[in-house]
Amino acid sequence: MSPATATAQELLPEVSEFLSADLHKAFVNGEWIEASGGQTFDVVDPGTGNKIATVASLQKEDVDRTVDAAVNAFEGSGWAKMPVNERSAVLHRIADAVEQRKAVFAQIESIDCGKIYSQAEGDVENFIDTFRYFADLAQTVNYRNVIAVRNHEAWVARHPWGPCGFIIPWNFPFLLAGWGLGPALAAGNTCVLKPAEDTPLSALYLCRMIQELDLLPAGVLNVVTGLGDTAGSAVSQNPKFRRMSFTGSPEVGRLVAEACGRNLVPVKCELGGKGAAVVFEDVDIPQTAAKLVEAITFHTGQVCCDATRWMIHRDIYDDFVNECVTRMKSVKIGYQMDDSAEMGPVVSPVQRERVLGYLKKGVTDGAELLLEGGAAEVSGRNGYFVKPALMAGSLDNVAAREEIFGPVAFLAPFGTEEEGIRLANDTDYGLGNSVWSQDLARCARVAEAFESGNGWINAHNVIVHGVPYAGVGKSGMGGGVVSPETLNDYLRPISVVRPL
Ligand code: NAD
Repeated sequence: MSPATATAQELLPEVSEFLSADLHKAFVNGEWIEASGGQTFDVVDPGTGNKIATVASLQKEDVDRTVDAAVNAFEGSGWAKMPVNERSAVLHRIADAVEQRKAVFAQIESIDCGKIYSQAEGDVENFIDTFRYFADLAQTVNYRNVIAVRNHEAWVARHPWGPCGFIIPWNFPFLLAGWGLGPALAAGNTCVLKPAEDTPLSALYLCRMIQELDLLPAGVLNVVTGLGDTAGSAVSQNPKFRRMSFTGSPEVGRLVAEACGRNLVPVKCELGGKGAAVVFEDVDIPQTAAKLVEAITFHTGQVCCDATRWMIHRDIYDDFVNECVTRMKSVKIGYQMDDSAEMGPVVSPVQRERVLGYLKKGVTDGAELLLEGGAAEVSGRNGYFVKPALMAGSLDNVAAREEIFGPVAFLAPFGTEEEGIRLANDTDYGLGNSVWSQDLARCARVAEAFESGNGWINAHNVIVHGVPYAGVGKSGMGGGVVSPETLNDYLRPISVVRPL
C-alpha cells in the first residue's frame, strides 16, 4: 500500500467563494429559501473530515410548497408548451454553460463526495453529454403519431406529464442529477430534485448558474436540500407528482415505492447491485486483472453496478489471485484532489464502518482474506480512507451476498460455462455483470444468459448514452436511464380517436 503524498490542487476562486457562504439555501421557484424552522445540516469533505458547508434542511411544508411551485411552473411558465426545438436549445445552453465551468463543478463534486478529481471531471462530462443527448433526441420524437385504422381517424399525441420528483444518492450526485433532469426537462416537465444530504453542493451550484444566466423559468427546476426521512420522505409522499424517480438503496427504495403506490404516482427505482465478473481461462491475466482492480477501486468501490463477485476459471485461479493482490497493494490511496491519488476516501464514517464491518462479518462467516483491507491512513488528512480487500470462500458468505459498497471483491473458482453463469445469477440483485474471454461467441452467450439489466463483454461499468441502463430484481424496477425509452417515459401518451 502506498498512500499518495502529493499536494492537493488549489481550490478555484469560484469554488472558494461558493463554499464561503454561511448558509447554502435550497432553490425553490427561482429563489433561495431557508427551512421554515431554520433547520440546517453540515456537509463534510470526506478526505479531511472538515465541515465545508452548512445547508438548509427543508421540512415537509417546505417540500410541499416546492411541489406547488413546480405544478404552477408546469401550468404557467410556458416551459411545457415551448416548441421542442426552443426547449432543446435551452438544454444545450445549460450543457455549454456547465462545460465552460467544468473545473468548478469538478472541484465541488470532488471535495463534496470524496471522488478523485479526474473521476469527478468525468461525471461532469457525463452530465454535459446527457443534456446534449436528450436535447437532440427530443427533436426526433414523433409527438403526433397518426395510426391507420379502418373507419377511424386516430392518432397518439405525446405531452409532458407535469411535475417530476427525483431522489438521488451520494455516489454520483451530479451525473445522476443529469440522468434524471436531462430527459424530464427535454420532454417539457418541471422538476424537484432531492440530492443526498452528504452531497448536495453540485446541484446547488447548477441552480446558481442557471439563475445567474437566466436559463430556465422560475419553478421549472427546484432543488430541495434536506435529510432523507424529512425532505426525502416528503418528496416521496407528495401526491402532486406525475412521475417519481428514486436512485439509492433497496431499503429506501421500498419506502419510496410504497409511498408512491399509495398515491398511484408511477415510480422508477434504480437500486443497488452485487455484480459479477465471469473470467474464463483464455484471458490475458495481467490485462484482465488490471481492469477488474480498476473497476473495484473506481470511486472507492462505491458504484452500484460494480464487479464485486469475481468468478475465476479454476485453471487460472491462483495466477489471477496473485496478480490482483499485487496490483491492489500498489493502488495509491490519497486525498481526492491530489494528482497522484488513485483511490480517495469513502463518503462518510458510516460508510467506512460499513466496509470494515463486512470484512469482519465475512471472516466470521468463514471467508478467507486474500488481501486484508482495513482502515487506511493518509498523512495530514483525517478522512475516511480504507484499503482495498479481496475475500474468497463460499458464495453463500454474507460478504458475497450483500452490497458492501466499498473496494472489496469476493472471489470464487468455477469450471464450466454453465457453472459460471449459475454462480453469477445466484443473487437477489441484477444490475451489471461482465464476461471475460477471447471467445466472443462464448461471451455473447454468457452475456445474454445473465439475469441482469446489463451484460458487458471484456469490460465492466460500461454505460453509453443511447443504450438502456436499468436493473432487475433487487436492483430496480420501472424504467431505466440514458436511452430513448427514458425520454419516452417522461411523455404522456394520449390516444385521440374519431369514428368516420
Ligand atoms: P439511500 O437509499 O440511503 O439514499 C438515497 C436517497 O434517498 C438520499 O437522497 C436520501 O436522503 C434519500 N432518503 C433516505 N431515506 C429516505 C426516506 N425515508 N424517504 C425518502 N428518501 C429517503 O442510498 P445511498 O446510501 O445514498 O446510496 C447508495 C445506494 O444507491 C446503493 O445501494 C447503490 O447501489 C445505489 N445506487 C444505485 C444506482 C443505480 O443506477 N441503480 C446508482 C447509484 C447508486
